[in-house]
Amino acid sequence: MRVAIVTGAGRGIGAATASRLSAHGLAVAVLDRDKPASERTATDIASSGGTAVAIAADVANPAQVKDAVALVAEQLGPPLVLVNNAGVTSDRPLAEMTEDDWDLVLGVNLRAHFLMCRAVLPHMRREGWGRIVNVSSMAANGTANQANYCAAKAGVQGLTRALAVELGPEGITVNAVAPGYIATEMTETSAGKAGFARAQRVVAAQTPMRRVGTPADVAETIAFLADVDSGFITGQVVPVTGGLMV
Ligand code: NAD
Repeated sequence: MRVAIVTGAGRGIGAATASRLSAHGLAVAVLDRDKPASERTATDIASSGGTAVAIAADVANPAQVKDAVALVAEQLGPPLVLVNNAGVTSDRPLAEMTEDDWDLVLGVNLRAHFLMCRAVLPHMRREGWGRIVNVSSMAANGTANQANYCAAKAGVQGLTRALAVELGPEGITVNAVAPGYIATEMTETSAGKAGFARAQRVVAAQTPMRRVGTPADVAETIAFLADVDSGFITGQVVPVTGGLMV
Protein backbone atom coordinates (compact mmCIF):
# COMPACT_ATOMS: atom_id res chain seq x y z
CA MET A 1 0.00 0.00 0.00
CA ARG A 2 1.48 3.36 -1.02
CA VAL A 3 1.82 5.85 1.82
CA ALA A 4 0.83 9.51 1.66
CA ILE A 5 1.38 12.35 4.08
CA VAL A 6 -1.19 15.15 3.97
CA THR A 7 -0.35 18.19 6.08
CA GLY A 8 -3.11 20.31 7.60
CA ALA A 9 -5.43 17.32 7.19
CA GLY A 10 -7.43 17.93 10.35
CA ARG A 11 -10.11 19.79 8.42
CA GLY A 12 -10.97 21.59 5.18
CA ILE A 13 -9.08 20.84 1.97
CA GLY A 14 -6.52 18.66 3.78
CA ALA A 15 -9.16 16.42 5.38
CA ALA A 16 -10.96 16.01 2.04
CA THR A 17 -7.63 15.17 0.37
CA ALA A 18 -6.74 12.57 3.00
CA SER A 19 -10.14 10.89 2.48
CA ARG A 20 -9.83 11.03 -1.29
CA LEU A 21 -6.33 9.50 -1.26
CA SER A 22 -7.60 6.78 1.06
CA ALA A 23 -10.45 6.07 -1.37
CA HIS A 24 -7.77 5.72 -4.07
CA GLY A 25 -6.15 2.95 -1.98
CA LEU A 26 -3.37 4.83 -0.20
CA ALA A 27 -2.49 4.60 3.50
CA VAL A 28 -2.62 8.15 4.83
CA ALA A 29 -0.71 9.99 7.54
CA VAL A 30 -3.04 12.75 8.70
CA LEU A 31 -0.64 15.42 9.90
CA ASP A 32 -1.91 18.50 11.72
CA ARG A 33 -0.83 20.69 14.61
CA ASP A 34 -4.37 20.24 15.95
CA LYS A 35 -4.19 16.73 17.45
CA PRO A 36 -7.93 16.14 18.05
CA ALA A 37 -8.69 17.31 14.50
CA SER A 38 -6.12 14.97 12.95
CA GLU A 39 -7.51 12.13 15.07
CA ARG A 40 -11.03 12.89 13.81
CA THR A 41 -9.94 12.69 10.17
CA ALA A 42 -7.98 9.48 10.77
CA THR A 43 -10.97 7.92 12.57
CA ASP A 44 -13.31 8.89 9.71
CA ILE A 45 -10.96 7.23 7.21
CA ALA A 46 -10.63 4.10 9.35
CA SER A 47 -14.39 3.85 9.76
CA SER A 48 -14.72 3.87 5.96
CA GLY A 49 -12.32 0.92 5.78
CA GLY A 50 -9.14 2.89 5.03
CA THR A 51 -5.76 2.96 6.73
CA ALA A 52 -4.76 6.18 8.46
CA VAL A 53 -2.67 7.40 11.35
CA ALA A 54 -2.98 10.77 13.07
CA ILE A 55 0.31 12.62 13.47
CA ALA A 56 0.41 15.78 15.60
CA ALA A 57 3.11 18.15 14.40
CA ASP A 58 3.79 21.77 13.54
CA VAL A 59 5.04 21.86 9.95
CA ALA A 60 6.93 25.09 10.62
CA ASN A 61 9.11 23.35 13.21
CA PRO A 62 12.08 21.53 11.61
CA ALA A 63 12.56 19.05 14.49
CA GLN A 64 8.86 18.16 14.54
CA VAL A 65 8.85 17.70 10.77
CA LYS A 66 11.81 15.34 10.94
CA ASP A 67 10.27 13.31 13.78
CA ALA A 68 6.86 13.21 12.10
CA VAL A 69 8.24 11.84 8.83
CA ALA A 70 10.27 9.22 10.73
CA LEU A 71 7.14 8.22 12.65
CA VAL A 72 5.13 7.84 9.43
CA ALA A 73 7.87 5.65 7.91
CA GLU A 74 7.89 3.51 11.04
CA GLN A 75 4.11 3.17 11.39
CA LEU A 76 2.96 2.97 7.76
CA GLY A 77 6.05 2.62 5.57
CA PRO A 78 8.07 5.05 3.44
CA PRO A 79 6.03 8.09 2.44
CA LEU A 80 6.10 8.36 -1.36
CA VAL A 81 3.29 10.89 -1.73
CA LEU A 82 3.44 14.26 0.01
CA VAL A 83 0.68 16.86 -0.03
CA ASN A 84 1.83 20.16 1.46
CA ASN A 85 -1.52 21.66 2.36
CA ALA A 86 -1.24 23.22 5.85
CA GLY A 87 -1.74 26.96 5.65
CA VAL A 88 -2.62 30.01 7.71
CA THR A 89 -3.49 33.63 7.07
CA SER A 90 -2.78 36.76 9.06
CA ASP A 91 -4.26 39.49 6.87
CA ARG A 92 -3.46 43.15 7.39
CA PRO A 93 -2.72 46.22 5.30
CA LEU A 94 1.02 46.59 4.73
CA ALA A 95 1.36 49.57 7.09
CA GLU A 96 -0.03 47.49 9.96
CA MET A 97 1.63 44.18 9.11
CA THR A 98 4.06 43.06 11.79
CA GLU A 99 7.16 40.91 11.46
CA ASP A 100 5.26 38.23 13.35
CA ASP A 101 2.44 38.28 10.74
CA TRP A 102 5.05 37.92 8.01
CA ASP A 103 7.09 35.20 9.71
CA LEU A 104 4.05 33.13 10.72
CA VAL A 105 2.54 33.07 7.23
CA LEU A 106 5.82 32.56 5.36
CA GLY A 107 6.84 29.93 7.93
CA VAL A 108 3.74 27.73 7.58
CA ASN A 109 2.86 28.41 3.94
CA LEU A 110 6.32 28.32 2.34
CA ARG A 111 9.22 27.35 4.60
CA ALA A 112 7.28 24.30 5.81
CA HIS A 113 6.92 23.05 2.23
CA PHE A 114 10.71 23.14 1.93
CA LEU A 115 11.10 21.35 5.29
CA MET A 116 8.58 18.63 4.41
CA CYS A 117 10.00 18.07 0.90
CA ARG A 118 13.51 17.76 2.31
CA ALA A 119 12.36 15.33 5.00
CA VAL A 120 10.56 12.93 2.64
CA LEU A 121 13.21 13.07 -0.10
CA PRO A 122 15.39 10.18 1.19
CA HIS A 123 12.36 7.85 1.06
CA MET A 124 11.35 8.87 -2.47
CA ARG A 125 14.98 8.80 -3.61
CA ARG A 126 15.44 5.24 -2.29
CA GLU A 127 12.32 4.15 -4.19
CA GLY A 128 13.15 6.15 -7.33
CA TRP A 129 9.56 7.37 -7.28
CA GLY A 130 7.55 10.12 -5.62
CA ARG A 131 4.68 12.56 -5.94
CA ILE A 132 4.71 15.96 -4.29
CA VAL A 133 1.66 18.21 -4.55
CA ASN A 134 1.89 21.69 -3.05
CA VAL A 135 -1.14 23.81 -2.27
CA SER A 136 -0.64 27.32 -3.60
CA SER A 137 -3.48 29.77 -4.24
CA MET A 138 -4.82 32.14 -6.88
CA ALA A 139 -3.81 34.76 -4.30
CA ALA A 140 -0.30 34.30 -5.71
CA ASN A 141 -1.48 36.80 -8.36
CA GLY A 142 -1.91 39.46 -5.66
CA THR A 143 -4.72 40.51 -3.32
CA ALA A 144 -4.92 43.51 -0.99
CA ASN A 145 -4.05 43.09 2.69
CA GLN A 146 -2.40 39.73 2.09
CA ALA A 147 1.19 40.65 1.16
CA ASN A 148 2.54 37.87 3.38
CA TYR A 149 0.09 35.22 2.09
CA CYS A 150 0.50 36.22 -1.59
CA ALA A 151 4.29 36.20 -1.30
CA ALA A 152 4.20 32.74 0.29
CA LYS A 153 1.80 31.30 -2.30
CA ALA A 154 3.82 32.77 -5.19
CA GLY A 155 6.93 31.32 -3.54
CA VAL A 156 5.28 27.90 -3.48
CA GLN A 157 4.90 28.08 -7.26
CA GLY A 158 8.62 28.87 -7.68
CA LEU A 159 9.55 26.08 -5.28
CA THR A 160 7.33 23.68 -7.24
CA ARG A 161 9.01 24.50 -10.54
CA ALA A 162 12.51 24.37 -9.06
CA LEU A 163 11.96 20.98 -7.43
CA ALA A 164 10.29 19.59 -10.55
CA VAL A 165 13.47 20.32 -12.51
CA GLU A 166 15.76 19.09 -9.75
CA LEU A 167 13.91 15.89 -8.84
CA GLY A 168 12.44 14.83 -12.19
CA PRO A 169 15.50 12.74 -13.09
CA GLU A 170 14.85 10.73 -9.89
CA GLY A 171 11.28 9.83 -10.85
CA ILE A 172 9.69 12.40 -8.53
CA THR A 173 7.02 14.75 -9.86
CA VAL A 174 6.29 18.07 -8.16
CA ASN A 175 3.12 20.00 -8.96
CA ALA A 176 0.89 22.55 -7.29
CA VAL A 177 -2.79 23.37 -7.19
CA ALA A 178 -3.98 26.95 -7.01
CA PRO A 179 -7.47 26.96 -5.52
CA GLY A 180 -9.76 29.93 -5.94
CA TYR A 181 -12.42 30.59 -3.31
CA ILE A 182 -13.13 27.39 -1.38
CA ALA A 183 -15.69 27.31 1.43
CA THR A 184 -13.74 26.22 4.53
CA GLU A 185 -13.09 27.46 8.05
CA MET A 186 -10.25 29.56 6.61
CA THR A 187 -12.57 31.56 4.33
CA GLU A 188 -15.28 31.63 7.02
CA THR A 189 -12.81 33.18 9.48
CA SER A 190 -11.65 35.74 6.89
CA ALA A 191 -15.23 36.80 6.05
CA GLY A 192 -16.50 36.67 9.62
CA LYS A 193 -19.40 34.35 10.51
CA ALA A 194 -22.01 36.94 9.52
CA GLY A 195 -20.37 37.81 6.19
CA PHE A 196 -19.59 34.26 5.05
CA ALA A 197 -22.84 33.53 3.19
CA ARG A 198 -22.73 36.92 1.48
CA ALA A 199 -19.07 36.51 0.49
CA GLN A 200 -19.90 33.15 -1.10
CA ARG A 201 -22.84 34.65 -3.04
CA VAL A 202 -20.62 37.45 -4.38
CA VAL A 203 -17.86 35.08 -5.48
CA ALA A 204 -20.34 32.58 -6.97
CA ALA A 205 -21.93 35.34 -9.07
CA GLN A 206 -18.51 36.23 -10.55
CA THR A 207 -17.53 32.60 -11.18
CA PRO A 208 -18.33 30.99 -14.55
CA MET A 209 -19.44 27.76 -12.78
CA ARG A 210 -21.74 29.93 -10.59
CA ARG A 211 -20.67 28.45 -7.29
CA VAL A 212 -17.76 28.59 -4.87
CA GLY A 213 -15.39 25.64 -4.59
CA THR A 214 -15.60 22.79 -2.12
CA PRO A 215 -12.72 20.95 -0.42
CA ALA A 216 -13.67 17.91 -2.54
CA ASP A 217 -13.05 19.90 -5.76
CA VAL A 218 -9.46 20.54 -4.71
CA ALA A 219 -8.96 17.06 -3.24
CA GLU A 220 -9.90 15.41 -6.54
CA THR A 221 -7.32 17.49 -8.44
CA ILE A 222 -4.63 16.73 -5.87
CA ALA A 223 -5.43 13.01 -6.04
CA PHE A 224 -5.07 13.13 -9.84
CA LEU A 225 -1.62 14.78 -9.58
CA ALA A 226 -0.59 12.24 -6.89
CA ASP A 227 -1.62 9.27 -9.01
CA VAL A 228 0.77 6.76 -10.57
CA ASP A 229 -0.66 7.57 -14.00
CA SER A 230 0.15 11.31 -13.78
CA GLY A 231 3.88 10.68 -14.11
CA PHE A 232 4.45 12.90 -17.17
CA ILE A 233 3.01 16.02 -15.51
CA THR A 234 5.48 17.97 -13.42
CA GLY A 235 6.30 21.58 -12.54
CA GLN A 236 2.70 22.64 -13.19
CA VAL A 237 0.34 24.84 -11.23
CA VAL A 238 -3.26 23.74 -11.75
CA PRO A 239 -5.94 26.35 -11.01
CA VAL A 240 -9.09 25.00 -9.31
CA THR A 241 -11.33 28.02 -9.59
CA GLY A 242 -14.57 27.18 -11.42
CA GLY A 243 -13.25 29.31 -14.27
CA LEU A 244 -12.59 32.48 -12.28
CA MET A 245 -9.38 33.91 -13.75
CA VAL A 246 -8.18 36.07 -10.83
P1 NAD B 1 -8.25 25.52 7.07
O1 NAD B 1 -7.85 26.70 7.90
O2 NAD B 1 -9.68 25.11 7.06
O3 NAD B 1 -7.36 24.26 7.46
C1 NAD B 1 -5.97 24.37 7.61
C2 NAD B 1 -5.45 23.23 8.44
O4 NAD B 1 -4.03 23.40 8.56
C3 NAD B 1 -6.02 23.20 9.85
O5 NAD B 1 -6.43 21.89 10.20
C4 NAD B 1 -4.85 23.66 10.72
O6 NAD B 1 -4.85 23.11 12.03
C5 NAD B 1 -3.65 23.16 9.91
N1 NAD B 1 -2.43 23.90 10.22
C6 NAD B 1 -2.27 25.24 10.28
N2 NAD B 1 -1.02 25.55 10.64
C7 NAD B 1 -0.37 24.37 10.81
C8 NAD B 1 0.95 24.03 11.19
N3 NAD B 1 1.84 24.99 11.49
N4 NAD B 1 1.30 22.73 11.27
C9 NAD B 1 0.39 21.76 10.98
N5 NAD B 1 -0.88 22.01 10.63
C10 NAD B 1 -1.26 23.31 10.53
O7 NAD B 1 -7.73 25.89 5.60
P2 NAD B 1 -8.21 25.40 4.14
O8 NAD B 1 -9.12 26.42 3.60
O9 NAD B 1 -8.61 23.98 4.16
O10 NAD B 1 -6.83 25.60 3.36
C11 NAD B 1 -5.92 24.54 3.10
C12 NAD B 1 -4.85 25.06 2.18
O11 NAD B 1 -5.45 25.59 0.99
C13 NAD B 1 -4.03 26.21 2.76
O12 NAD B 1 -2.69 26.10 2.33
C14 NAD B 1 -4.66 27.43 2.14
O13 NAD B 1 -3.79 28.53 2.09
C15 NAD B 1 -4.99 26.90 0.77
N6 NAD B 1 -6.03 27.64 0.06
C16 NAD B 1 -7.27 27.77 0.58
C17 NAD B 1 -8.23 28.49 -0.13
C18 NAD B 1 -9.63 28.69 0.37
O14 NAD B 1 -10.38 29.45 -0.26
N7 NAD B 1 -10.03 28.04 1.46
C19 NAD B 1 -7.91 29.06 -1.37
C20 NAD B 1 -6.62 28.89 -1.86
C21 NAD B 1 -5.69 28.17 -1.14
